[in-house]
Amino acid sequence: MKQTIDEFLSHVRQRNPNEPEFLQAVEEVAETVLPYIVKHDIYYGKNILLRMVEPERVISFRVCWVDDSGEIQVNRGYRIQMNSAIGPYKGGLRFHPTVNQSILKFLAFEQVFKNSLTTLPMGGGKGGSDFDPKGKSDGEIMRFCHAFMSELFRHIGPSTDIPAGDIGVGAREIGFLFGMYKKLKNEFTGVLTGKGLSWGGSLIRPEATGYGNVYFAQKMLETKGDAIEGKQVVISGSGNVAQYAAEKVLQLGGKVLTLSDSSGYIYDEKGIDAEKLKYVMHLKNVERGRIGEYANKYPEAKFIKGETPWGIKCDVALPCATQNELGESDAKTLVENGCICVSEGANMPSTNKAILVFHKAKILFAPGKASNAGGVATSGLEMTQNALRFNWTREAVDEKLQEIMEDIHDECIKYGKGEDGYVDYVKGANIAGFVKVADAMLAQGIV
Ligand code: NDP
Repeated sequence: MKQTIDEFLSHVRQRNPNEPEFLQAVEEVAETVLPYIVKHDIYYGKNILLRMVEPERVISFRVCWVDDSGEIQVNRGYRIQMNSAIGPYKGGLRFHPTVNQSILKFLAFEQVFKNSLTTLPMGGGKGGSDFDPKGKSDGEIMRFCHAFMSELFRHIGPSTDIPAGDIGVGAREIGFLFGMYKKLKNEFTGVLTGKGLSWGGSLIRPEATGYGNVYFAQKMLETKGDAIEGKQVVISGSGNVAQYAAEKVLQLGGKVLTLSDSSGYIYDEKGIDAEKLKYVMHLKNVERGRIGEYANKYPEAKFIKGETPWGIKCDVALPCATQNELGESDAKTLVENGCICVSEGANMPSTNKAILVFHKAKILFAPGKASNAGGVATSGLEMTQNALRFNWTREAVDEKLQEIMEDIHDECIKYGKGEDGYVDYVKGANIAGFVKVADAMLAQGIV
């Protein structure tokens, strides 16, 4: 088996040089899915995984815009349309200076499996730009978003490809992007998700990824007769996913000890309670400040510059910032400090070596493609509401979100439970996600 996997990976490596993040994501999937393919005749010999690692379409384009000082700026925009076997392409847009083809291909590839797991009919895609929103005025953000959409609009549509937010793309950016799409196409459709409530958005969409991640962690803990209640929780990031993960942990009776951003992390031994979290939301979403300012406001907290929070003793860790933010030595520290559950809010925050440490220690570990799927699932619900021209209540959407997270958890157990009873959620998520997409691809023939 090892030889089959090595040969497959070496072929993919050769075809995608200089794409380390993409190769990392493919490696994680190949190691769990190829053994399954070999054992199942309907998939064997059809090069099905080889077809899945090749994007259906990669679009790269120039984005020119004028900054506040009158200078012309040039950025690069992308949309990776990875797989449309089970539905139109669906996945977020990321605006961050680190964005490149490798990062977007890894995100699009993971998205295919994640969207399949949600049980909703959505294919996988991802896009974005190397544009850095930090320090830009609202006017600059608007001009950039309009320029970006003035090219992207021709490649997307409510039945073709439906983008959403991701790092650097929140409610403000979705508004500007939607405005330009509507103007160019002269139609009001659900082409983007994460929209404002008065113009087609869904209740609970902003909360969905963070809430869903904590619902998933709760499900994992329940398999051990345990719960979030009373747990010490370490969270990284302080953006959309981290904020609502923290809110749900508090609602379920857990204690939040940390939050972070790219400048460092804050550690509040007394706990980040609801009032303090409200301050963080204002700081990050309205003032667009840095997390270190928390320690000025609450002197009982410490700000640790330039570091990640994994050295803080905890029961549960929720990485909610970015890819590869939790390495092998961080994983070892977490395990040594008694952490029993890691549930990924971000996409691929743990390196493959870190995941090995969690598996070896047999602690609960959920990969993002399962545990952060609540965001795209609720985007799927937003698409349905747009198609029906109808809005569900907050309670109804939250209930559907909880059902979906429970179904994903069940699927992971179905394909990931080993003979000793330990659930390998990575294997479970990869195989469950694969089966649905592969069946659709086989039914549709070689296209
Ligand atoms: P936001 O832009 O709202 O927040 C991102 C947070 O992560 C910020 O605190 C940011 O800090 C931090 N961060 C970003 N890059 C780095 C870095 N290189 N090093 C350290 N910290 C960093 O994004 P989201 O909360 O939406 O996304 C967070 C993660 O969740 C991403 O991996 C995303 O792909 C994933 N995700 C998001 C979904 C959604 O619905 N929004 C759905 C599923 C997954 P700073 O402000 O300093 O940059």
